[in-house]
Amino acid sequence: MTNTVVQINTGLVNVFLIQGGAGCMLVDAGNPGQADLILKQLAEHDVAPDDVRLILITHGHIDHFGSAAALREQTGAPVAIHALDAVAARQGAHQPDSLQPTNRWIGLAMRFPFLHLPNRAPAFEPDVVIEEEWRLDEYGIAGRAVHTPGHTPGSISVLLDGGEAIVGDMVMGKLMGLIRKPGPPVVAWDLEQNQESVRQLLALSPRVVYVGHGGPFRAEDVSAEWNTQP
Ligand SMILES: [Zn+2]
Ligand SMILES: [Zn+2]
Repeated sequence: MTNTVVQINTGLVNVFLIQGGAGCMLVDAGNPGQADLILKQLAEHDVAPDDVRLILITHGHIDHFGSAAALREQTGAPVAIHALDAVAARQGAHQPDSLQPTNRWIGLAMRFPFLHLPNRAPAFEPDVVIEEEWRLDEYGIAGRAVHTPGHTPGSISVLLDGGEAIVGDMVMGKLMGLIRKPGPPVVAWDLEQNQESVRQLLALSPRVVYVGHGGPFRAEDVSAEWNTQP
C-alpha cells in the first residue's frame, strides 16, 4: 500500500493531504479561518470533505491547528494531537512554553508588531490524544506518528512506510521558508531536544522531509545541515 503526499500551501504554512490505499488524512490544519481554502484545494485533488478520515496536528501552534475545529465540523474526521500539546487545543492558544526565539535576531524581529501573527484560535477538545507511537493503518494510511519533541513538548512527526516524513516545525525552511534550505525552527521549547529529535528521525531513514514552512527537502540535505551544526 503506498501513500501520496500533497503539499497544500495556505500562504504562510503548509497543510498536507495524505492519500493512502484506503483513506485520506490531513496533517495540520492551517491558520484560523482557512478551512474553506483547504477544502477547496482538496476538491482540486478529487477529495470530498467526508473522504478525510483523520486530522493529525503536528504541534500546538495556532498556524498548525487554527482551522482544526472548523475542518472537523465539515469533514466529520477526528482530530488528534499529542498529550503534551493538547492544552493548546483546549485553550485555543499557542503551547505556552514554546515561543522562545532560537537566536537573538529572531528575538529582535519578534518585537516588531507587523510580524505578530494570530495568537488565538477556536478552542476544541481533541478526539484522540496521542501518548505513544501510533500506527495509522486504521485510517487507511501506511505509516505512523512518532513523538519528536523540541519545537514544542508534544511535537509529532508522521513517518510513512514509503519514506516520506512530515515533521511540522522541527525543521523549517530558512527565513520561514523563503530560502530553499532546511534549518532549525525560529522558536522552540527546547532547541537541544529538537536537534536530538531530528537526529532520531533521520536514523529512521526517511527519503523526503516535508515541513510546515517551506520545503520539501531531501533527507540528505537535512542531514548535511544538521551534521554541520554544533
Ligand atoms: Zn509553524
Ligand atoms: Zn510551530
